[in-house]
Amino acid sequence: MMTKLGIFPVSMKVRGKKIVIAGGGPEALAKARLAAKTDAHTIVVARKIFADFSGLDVTVLEQPFTDDLLDGAAMVFSGDEGPDADLAKAAARAHSIPLNVVDKPDECDFYTPAIVDRAPLSVAISSEGEAPVMARLVRAKIEALLPLSLGKIVKFTGGLRDKVEQTIHSGDQRRKFYQDLLASPKYEQLVADDRDQDAHLFADWLMQARAEGEGFVHLVGAGPGAEDLLTLRAQRVLQSADVIVHDQLVPDVIVEMGRRDAERVAVGKAKGRHSFTQKRINQMLVDFAKQGKRVVRLKSGDPMIFGRAGEEIAHLRANNVDFDIVPGITSALAAAADSETPVTLRNVSSGIVFATAHGADNQVVTHWASLAKSGISLGIYMGKSIIDEVADQLIAEGLTGSTPVGVVVNAGRENSSRYFGTLAGAAQLKEQLAEGPAIVFIGEAIASGNWQQFEAQIPQTLQVA
Ligand code: SAH
Repeated sequence: MMTKLGIFPVSMKVRGKKIVIAGGGPEALAKARLAAKTDAHTIVVARKIFADFSGLDVTVLEQPFTDDLLDGAAMVFSGDEGPDADLAKAAARAHSIPLNVVDKPDECDFYTPAIVDRAPLSVAISSEGEAPVMARLVRAKIEALLPLSLGKIVKFTGGLRDKVEQTIHSGDQRRKFYQDLLASPKYEQLVADDRDQDAHLFADWLMQARAEGEGFVHLVGAGPGAEDLLTLRAQRVLQSADVIVHDQLVPDVIVEMGRRDAERVAVGKAKGRHSFTQKRINQMLVDFAKQGKRVVRLKSGDPMIFGRAGEEIAHLRANNVDFDIVPGITSALAAAADSETPVTLRNVSSGIVFATAHGADNQVVTHWASLAKSGISLGIYMGKSIIDEVADQLIAEGLTGSTPVGVVVNAGRENSSRYFGTLAGAAQLKEQLAEGPAIVFIGEAIASGNWQQFEAQIPQTLQVA
């Protein structure tokens, strides 16, 4: 059954009116903080004031509550129980002024939502007085999504309206222009820094591009697979995409974060699925951009690490397609986090090398061995299936068989698992590994991680059979 709202959210006008808060303690203070965000005349009244209201733009009256205080009041709060709270309650009811009694939902005419304040823009989150902590959690999420300078951006962008109408004639392209402009971290920064002239230049450039119907490609790192390891910028850019061209390794939940009507193309190589050659992917990006589309090329981890971004960038440059790059958390770093391994470690490891075992020849392995001998950690991508061969080669190059090896499968994901052994034991280690992409760490610093399986740390009683 569908739950209906017991409230109707509205935005109440308070400019030029009073907000009266009866109470002198922490409850009154909490409401005063909210009220002070507005330009209402906020009055706090109680015969005993014991919270510290200094620094808030409110009038504090240490006196008994009197009815005349409610003249011109838009709303009344009653808190901190006491004679003044009771008087204010009765008076508000008598004069039919909306009343909020702190922590007594049954006595309230209205609730105070959790507020995200980006004046003139505001977001109010209400749970009808139930589980207010949840409303605050939701607010924290929205806070993180909305830049602090959003209000400024709203105003500034409003000022562009006439020019946009004159420059871009297609409504569809205008919508795209606003979407791109507002999704651009660069524009956000310029406006936030009050660099109005540069912000205008940037907007003009984008306007021109939209007027000519030019597209844009974002190469975006999706991180290791958990949706909350995506950057805020990646999320924003995703929501502006007309087309999302994604690898198979990027989980659906992330691909789904784009607009519902965005086109989605899976181009990764996966068993049993049609796969695209790199050349074809390069051309696809250019073709979409030339159709005036905003393209997000979504790659797992970071796009610049074993992501074949080099070829895509070269092709975009050669075809004069504008692009930018949004970094992501590369899987080796997610693996280091999952296994609690400081891959650089004072007096043990002076660095980390991201390397691929894919197609590694003897010369490459010799080089790795010399790096590992000098105490540098190796973080090997695409090495899971040949971990034993690589280990043998490293031993042949003079590394000791007791050199630590750690493997993290499905790093950064819910089903992450970790394994620890030595170069000499690499073949056995390989036998145990779960399905999924893996990072292989080699080096002395790896032993300082926590290589117990996560499951082992969950109390027995909570484990699901
Ligand atoms: N651009 C990606 C790497 C792509 S190459 C990044 O920055 O992470 C593909 C290889 O990355 C896989 O063979 C595996 O070695 C590694 N990989 C990708 N996702 C992974 C994950 N969630 N856990 C462990 N390794 C992963």
